[in-house]
Amino acid sequence: MPNRNITAPDLRRMICFVAEAIGKEEAHLNSLDAAIGDGDHGITMRVGFEAVKAKVSGLDASATIDGILAESGTAFMGATGGAIGVLLGKMLMAAGASLKGKQEIGAAEFQSLLASMETALVATGKAKPGDKTLLDAVHAANQALAAEPLQDLLTALRIAREGARRGAESTAQMPARIGRSSRLGDRALGNPDPGAASFYIILQSMTEFVERQSSSAS
Ligand SMILES: [Mg+2]
Repeated sequence: MPNRNITAPDLRRMICFVAEAIGKEEAHLNSLDAAIGDGDHGITMRVGFEAVKAKVSGLDASATIDGILAESGTAFMGATGGAIGVLLGKMLMAAGASLKGKQEIGAAEFQSLLASMETALVATGKAKPGDKTLLDAVHAANQALAAEPLQDLLTALRIAREGARRGAESTAQMPARIGRSSRLGDRALGNPDPGAASFYIILQSMTEFVERQSSSAS
């Protein structure tokens, strides 16, 4: 299997691919949020990623990996309100800062990116694993990646995606302890956290992008 890393032009295409995947899940994400919140999570994610896509598409061809991620974070935060706008915005900015000067994203860079996202999320959101938030998916993805020997980018993405999937699914069994849905307490049981579900979709679409890139490069 060809083992291609992500260059800056690849990253721009990947972000647009993720934006489209999030857009397709808008109704699903709204319905997850409606069960435990105000039902707007899909709209927020779609609007945020549309802004990111527009920003990334308009960047100069010389844009670097760290610059693309930093601009993505600013665009997401600027276009969306509420907690998720700040959290994902800061996570994207942190991802950019972690890859300063890098010409490509391989497995090691992806691991740094994912770790920096968790650090930024914890610093900004004050949640802990088990609080039924986005962090449960992000933390599980990092844990999964740390538990395996680091191989190529696609393998790393698949491992992190499976971690995020399990983490997002596990939130269904958690009572809500933080944020708006915490008022529901045990009544939130049975419903996964929409932010965690979104993070799984992001990793799933990133993985799919690299799978397609790898198969077309052979
Ligand atoms: Mg909401």
